[in-house]
Amino acid sequence: MQDIKELTLQELENRLENFGVKKYHAKQIFSWIYKKLTLDFAQMSDLPKGLRDKLNAHFFISGLEIARKIKSNDGTKKLLLKLADANFIEAVIIPVNQRLTACVSTQVGCKFACRFCASGMNGFKRNLSCAEILDELLLLEKEVYPERLTNLVFMGTGEPLDNYEEVLKSAKIINSSVGFNMGARRISISTSGIIPGILRLAGEGLQIELSVSLHAADDKLRSELMPVNKRYPLKELIASCKAYSDKTNRQVTFEYILIKGMNSDLKNAQLLVRLLSGYKLSKVNLIPSNPVSGLGLEPPDKKNILLFKDYLFKQGVNVTLRRERGQDIDAACGQLRLKYEKN
Ligand code: SAH
Repeated sequence: MQDIKELTLQELENRLENFGVKKYHAKQIFSWIYKKLTLDFAQMSDLPKGLRDKLNAHFFISGLEIARKIKSNDGTKKLLLKLADANFIEAVIIPVNQRLTACVSTQVGCKFACRFCASGMNGFKRNLSCAEILDELLLLEKEVYPERLTNLVFMGTGEPLDNYEEVLKSAKIINSSVGFNMGARRISISTSGIIPGILRLAGEGLQIELSVSLHAADDKLRSELMPVNKRYPLKELIASCKAYSDKTNRQVTFEYILIKGMNSDLKNAQLLVRLLSGYKLSKVNLIPSNPVSGLGLEPPDKKNILLFKDYLFKQGVNVTLRRERGQDIDAACGQLRLKYEKN
């Protein structure tokens, strides 16, 4: 038995031809799954009965179970999902203005151990498969149906560029007109800065948005906050981002969490300006850090946040300040899953 969502349209067409069935049924099956969100072959009423039986004998559609649903006062909704092997992952819907953004996980746990992040606190378990990533999105789509999700960020638990093949395969089906049909520019991959992954993504010929979690503009501090920086230091990282911008003509977003007493005074802002000077296709998104229990980090005072932002703005940096979302439901990466696993 195989999850049918592991297959691209062409792969499914080939399988159908091997069954001795016309390949145009593959498009119908894709439409049932990704457009009508049907997770049961028996309901695919325009397929011949014999084909439905064959599909049932060879494939399944979903292995995920919703363990918990939590809604924040600001409309953010989080699903705790149980995988077939009883591991848990999180997926979130974030409504902002006219947009409905899905945030999906790409790994169970995380091996990168960023100091401010809950995702890595219990270590790494395994990669998610393409089908499991698509399951997250299917379940999130069902939550908003008949509306549709407008955007997707690979920004949940895990490092997408450390699970490159499965993430890319899922992104292509999400982007495909026979899949979720979501424009590449509405799909965003967030990375802690895996340089080979960034360079590989640049060569895919896709217009996917790239976000890089920067959080510090000097190597000493960044290595303290994000051990991955020892392997992929800032100079090379920024060069790879520029290569991404040059190749795709897309702006790269640098995420910068503001943590009190750590990376948020004017000296840090100056270093950030210097690091990005001359990099036109770049943008900085400031995020006041979310409190994570056990990590002892706090956001700076509102006044300091605005000083930091204004300094960047006056120096010509393209800067935005993200509103904190879903704090009352532990929406920051991995927080809910951690709580759940402890219980
Ligand atoms: N591994 C990828 C994607 C997952 S993390 C990456 O590093 O980008 C998604 C985003 O949430 C990252 O920008 C991460 O730095 C941020 N994040 C993690 N912990 C946070 C916290 N306590 N407060 C605010 N943002 C946090």
